[in-house]
Amino acid sequence: MVSVRSGVGGEASYDILIGRGLLAELPALLATHCPSSTYVVISDSHVAPRYGESVVAGLRQAGHTTLLLTFPAGEWNKTRETWSALSDRLVDAHVDRGGVVIALGGGVVGDLAGFVAATYLRGIRYVQVPTSLLAMLDSSIGGKTGVDLPQGKNLLGAFHQPRVVVADLETLRTLPAPQFAAGMAEAIKHGVIADAEYFAGLERDHGRLVERDAGALEQMVKRSVEIKAEVVAMDEREAGRRAILNFGHTIGHAIESTSGYGVLHGEAVAIGMAFEARLAERAGIAEAGTAKRIAQVLTRFSLSLELPDTPVDVLIDAMRHDKKAQDGELRLALPNRIGSMEIAAQRGWSVPVAESLMREILTSPP
Ligand code: NAD
Repeated sequence: MVSVRSGVGGEASYDILIGRGLLAELPALLATHCPSSTYVVISDSHVAPRYGESVVAGLRQAGHTTLLLTFPAGEWNKTRETWSALSDRLVDAHVDRGGVVIALGGGVVGDLAGFVAATYLRGIRYVQVPTSLLAMLDSSIGGKTGVDLPQGKNLLGAFHQPRVVVADLETLRTLPAPQFAAGMAEAIKHGVIADAEYFAGLERDHGRLVERDAGALEQMVKRSVEIKAEVVAMDEREAGRRAILNFGHTIGHAIESTSGYGVLHGEAVAIGMAFEARLAERAGIAEAGTAKRIAQVLTRFSLSLELPDTPVDVLIDAMRHDKKAQDGELRLALPNRIGSMEIAAQRGWSVPVAESLMREILTSPP
C-alpha cells in the first residue's frame, strides 16, 4: 500500500491510500482514519452488488451499525432528487453527527454521497472509496461535491473534504473498458498540466496500462493523485491555481450536458482537451505540436476525438452557462506546452477566449 498525504491544511488534511485488497481491510483502516459506531455506505446499482454487500458485511462483523443505500447508476441520477432521497434515508435511520458516510463507487457516487455528507446536519464526516479509475486518480480527491441541474453540470454543491481516501486497485478488474479509457483522459490531463515526464510515461506504458498491469496502474494512480493533491492544496476553493484542473472541461462539460449525459465525463473531457489544445495553439499560447501530441495519446487509449453532432451554437450557449464562465465570458485554462501552465499562471490561471475563436476551432477540421 502506498500513501499520499493531501496537502490541504490542518483538519482538512487527509491520507490517500492506494493498494490491492484494501476493501477487505476497510474496518481496520476506518478504525485508524475515521472511527465511528455508524457507517452509511452509499453506492450505485453496479457497484453495490459487486462490492457493497461485502463491505457492509465486514463492517457489521467488526461491530458497527451499517446501512447500505443505493441508487441507479449513471450521471443522469446525479441530481437533487437522488440527493434528497438519500438524505431522507439518513433522517429515517436517525443517523447522528457521529455517523460517517462511505462513498463506494465512481465519481457520481463520490460527488453525490459527498454532497449528502456536506449538507446532512450541516455536515458530517465522510470517506471516499473510489472504484472507477477516474474516481481514484481524480474525483475522490479535493473535496468538490455536488449534483447536476438541468441547466448545467455541478451547479449545486459544496466543498467538503473526505477524512481518508481508500483506493483498492483490485476493483479496477471489473471496470468496463470505456470507463477505463474515460479515467485515462484525466490522467493524461494531469500530465499536460503538470508533468511532462509523466505524460511521456503514459505514452510509453500504453500497452501495460491497457492490460491493467498492476505495477503500471499503481504508479499511474499514485502520480496522478500527487498532482491533483498538490494543486488542490495550493488552492482548496478554486480561487486561482486550481483552475488548471479544468483544462478540457469547458468544451467537455458542454458536450457532456448537451448529450443528455450519453457521453461519459472522461470521454467528453478527452474531446475537450483535443479542441482546447488546438485553440491554445491558435491563440499563440501553446507551442506548435502540443495539440497533435495530446490527440495522439488520447487516441492510443481508444478515446474518440470527434465532436458529437450538437449544433455549435448549442455548445457555446452551454459554455456560457458553465460555472467557470464569468459574466457570460468564456475563460479557459490552457497549457503552453506539455507539462506547463506557465502562461496561464502569468495571466491569472484562465484567459478570456473570444466566442469567434471558439466557433472557428469547433467548426474547422483538425
Ligand atoms: P461513474 O461514477 O458514473 O462510474 C462509471 C460507471 O462505472 C458507472 O456505471 C459505475 O457504476 C461503474 N463502476 C464504477 N466502478 C466500477 C467497478 N469497479 N466495476 C464495475 N463498474 C464500476 O463515473 P466516473 O467516470 O467514475 O465519474 C464521473 C463523475 O465524476 C462525473 O459526475 C464528474 O462530474 C465527476 N467528477 C468530479 C470531480 C471532483 O473533483 N469532484 C472531478 C472529476 C469528475
